[in-house]
Amino acid sequence: MRPGEVEGGQGTLRFSFQDPPGGMTASQGLRGLEHFLILVQWLTFYVSLVLLLLLEFWPVCPAEGWVTSEYGYRRDPMTHRRKFHRGVDVANEAGTPVHSPWGGTVSTVARSRYGGRFVVVRSGPFKMTFLHLQTATVAKGDQVERGDQLGLMGSSGRATGPHVHLGMRLRGKTVNPSMALLRCRAPL
Ligand SMILES: [Zn+2]
Repeated sequence: MRPGEVEGGQGTLRFSFQDPPGGMTASQGLRGLEHFLILVQWLTFYVSLVLLLLLEFWPVCPAEGWVTSEYGYRRDPMTHRRKFHRGVDVANEAGTPVHSPWGGTVSTVARSRYGGRFVVVRSGPFKMTFLHLQTATVAKGDQVERGDQLGLMGSSGRATGPHVHLGMRLRGKTVNPSMALLRCRAPL
């Protein structure tokens, strides 16, 4: 028997490893379609995986309300001096619930002259601070799920009215929380 031949029950089946002469044959066209379908399957798989990951980390909006002050330079509402505002202010009625955008660990619950009653939640490399609360409903060391309530909006500390100041740090560096909270989901 020569190489390329297979002994079968009904005789000898011959096949070739070489491309057939001429253009694309019908079987080659089918193989192309098969490869395309496999590619589509893989693409579907990866797109679903990315969507699942996005859904897993898609943030919940920390509070319902109106953005009264963006991240960046602004005229301080109390001293009227130009000052860098290291967070985003969301205002609403006192007592509006404040939620954690991601799951994490409550690393601080304290009170300060500037921030009033505040909570810090660590989520992976991020640390998110929630200032000027009326009350905190979590304690240091608590594990929170995405969307869990952290406290109620208030005007404790240096505040002109009830609002929550959202601050965000990435490995210790202040970042703009609007970037991460863009298109956040409504609290559950
Ligand atoms: Zn603020």
